[in-house]
Amino acid sequence: MEGFRYLDGVASLRFSEAACTGCGMCEQVCPHRVFAVARGKARILDKDLCMECGSCATNCPAGAISVRPGVGCATAIMKGWLSGSEEKT
Ligand code: SF4
Ligand code: SF4
Repeated sequence: MEGFRYLDGVASLRFSEAACTGCGMCEQVCPHRVFAVARGKARILDKDLCMECGSCATNCPAGAISVRPGVGCATAIMKGWLSGSEEKT
């Protein structure tokens, strides 16, 4: 899954640097390595890698992350239907 991208610019991921305490949980739990923590703050490396699983927001103790889980997955499936790469059931 690493490196898998969905549509550019559509991920609902939001991050507040001001609220971030730099605990590193988002970096640990993200399956796509969207976040990196350095000098006490997280930052988003590539928002378009986000699959909107919600793990980062669920595990952020500071409430610095929000995301609408599942939106990206649905978008990816629809994109697959349109391009013919996703089998319809
Ligand atoms: S989990 Fe939240 S508080 Fe911790 S580094 Fe990530 S954004 Fe910052
Ligand atoms: S929602 Fe999931 S894929 Fe997206 S940044 Fe958070 S942990 Fe990573």
